[in-house]
Amino acid sequence: MVDLQVTPLDDVYSLVMIRDISRRWRMESHAQRLMTAVDATPDVIFLTDADFRITFVNSAFQMVTGYTIEDALGQVADFLRAPGQEAVQKACREHLANDVDWSGEMLNRRVDGNHYPVQTSVSPIFDLEGAKLGYAVFERDITLLKRLQEDLRRERNAVTSIIDSLDAAIYTLDSNFKLAHVNSFWERLPVRHGWLAWDEKPRPGASFLEAIPDANRREQIRAALNQVLTDGRTFEMQAPDPLQRRQWFVRIAPWRHEGRIMGLIYKVTDQTRLTELQNQLYQAQKMETVGALAAGVAHDFNNLLQAIRGHVALMLMEEALPETLGSPLQQIDQAATRACEITQQLLTFSRASEENQVVLDFNLVINEAAQLARRSLKQKITLKLEPSAEPVHARIDATRAQQLLLNLCVNAIDAMPNGGVLTLSNRVARLTPAQAARHSLVTGAPYVCCTVRDTGTGIPPEIVDRIFDPFFTTKAKGKGTGLGMSIVHGVISHSGGFLELDTELNRGTAFNIYLPQVAVTTAASSSKSPDRKLVRGTGRVLVVDDLDLVRDFARTFLEASGYTVETAASGEEALEILAAVAKPFDLVLTDFNMTGISGQQLIREITERWPSTKCILASGYLEPQERDLVEEHLGARILNKPFNVREAANLIAEMLAS
Ligand code: ADP
Ligand code: MG
Repeated sequence: MVDLQVTPLDDVYSLVMIRDISRRWRMESHAQRLMTAVDATPDVIFLTDADFRITFVNSAFQMVTGYTIEDALGQVADFLRAPGQEAVQKACREHLANDVDWSGEMLNRRVDGNHYPVQTSVSPIFDLEGAKLGYAVFERDITLLKRLQEDLRRERNAVTSIIDSLDAAIYTLDSNFKLAHVNSFWERLPVRHGWLAWDEKPRPGASFLEAIPDANRREQIRAALNQVLTDGRTFEMQAPDPLQRRQWFVRIAPWRHEGRIMGLIYKVTDQTRLTELQNQLYQAQKMETVGALAAGVAHDFNNLLQAIRGHVALMLMEEALPETLGSPLQQIDQAATRACEITQQLLTFSRASEENQVVLDFNLVINEAAQLARRSLKQKITLKLEPSAEPVHARIDATRAQQLLLNLCVNAIDAMPNGGVLTLSNRVARLTPAQAARHSLVTGAPYVCCTVRDTGTGIPPEIVDRIFDPFFTTKAKGKGTGLGMSIVHGVISHSGGFLELDTELNRGTAFNIYLPQVAVTTAASSSKSPDRKLVRGTGRVLVVDDLDLVRDFARTFLEASGYTVETAASGEEALEILAAVAKPFDLVLTDFNMTGISGQQLIREITERWPSTKCILASGYLEPQERDLVEEHLGARILNKPFNVREAANLIAEMLAS
């Protein structure tokens, strides 16, 4: 591009000047474009002189600050800042005094008084000689950016809080198995958990595999991590620590980001409590099965023993009994009584026998137990009683309380073949937080704690968990049944208590029975005094039982008491007999548990069809609701098996008299 200038000199000549102006033109157009750009940007740009007085502002300046060009020109730039920015401004000035660029954040105030944060850069400008002309200032409104950052931070904090609140140690690893993040829960776990063992606080960047001390485990975990990294499928495993008695559970999951597996998440949870609960459930189910079996056997034996004891009782009442038979019969009676006690134990064990919970003073209970235990005491064993000064009342069936203590005493005596000290003590205990947590109870609740302590062999750790198993025994055949501890366990948990034991090899064992303390002081009822003579009566009685022994016994004893007796071997047969006779029977004595029509169904039928006939249900055990049904809705009475002849005679006479 040229600039042509023609100046006529005379008529002939003119001076023609051709100047190349491309450069100037280029410069001007460049400046033009620069100005356009400066005005188009949303960022604020202004120039100042060396005293920070504004000499130029771009159009964004007006938009952002709200000040007009006239307002701004000649003013020191400080008027743009919000109050409280003095320190930043001072720092900026000091920095610029060294003729170097400054950049940082500031808070500005618009003309309308609103504040907004800016990212500011200030550069000194020099002329060709190097003299400072002033400063070029760039400011970007970062309100949005700040808000975004704040949102992000809040979201990240929320996520971290959630992760920290989980009951699990959560390790996030990158694809090289370096630790990226760990939540805070690991602090609450023992140093060793889920195959890991930390010497110090796990730090991001640390090699995760190095935290696994066992070389085999390390390789196993490395393989698992690699696998999850490749196929993205979650990997789970149990990581038991028998030394700590802890059950860890490890779960390795992929850490995904936009469809890609970035790394891994290694989660460790403590499942000790869960495993414990599962074991308890398993134990309870096992006891239930064995209990049902035992109950079945005991029930049948009860019937047989009923027949034996009943007949013996009748024979002993015989006036013309030969002298020589008296003693053998008494022996039979004793043996049968003992057998009854054993079936009673079995029924207790299966919780199928009658139970009568009363409030008992445990100081009396240990006294009685001590008297009974003395009988089986060998020489060299000292029995010590340490009753509590405070009242120790708890609600429990009296017989079972005795059974409980006797079982523990017998075990203690067996554990001291060379003699020692057996101590029975009572105290009131407040549940510790640990106990409360273990048994899901309330901390500080008052409990009667009855302790049976021996100085015997102790229990080896490997069998401690098994002593409550039914039929688990370490004793010679014929000596132990293995039922004692399971009965103890059953009785205590049935009474709402729990058992804790403390044992040391060759030092001895202490069993602590915990039962909820009862504040009232009601004493247990005493048993009634026995009657000598059998009550006699008259009437027609139908005996229904599927066992001929029981049937025959009942017939014998009822006939001996003056009644007319017929028998039936089943509910069906009983109904036939009842339907066949013209005048209804006065009374039906029926067994509960029979094949075909049950005793209860039979009674229901009889009450409907022959309302004048009275009914007695004989049963070894009944659930409370069955008892209610029979007694209240059907108006029948219940005779507990094995029944005492006198009791039965009394009941029948009473019913027929009414
Ligand atoms: P049993 O006494 O018939 O063997 P238990 O259920 O009463 O059955 O006891 C189970 C096992 O528990 C015993 O065989 C014994 O090994 C162990 N045990 C129970 N109490 C004690 C104790 N006080 N000292 C040592 N071992 C005991
Ligand atoms: Mg025992």
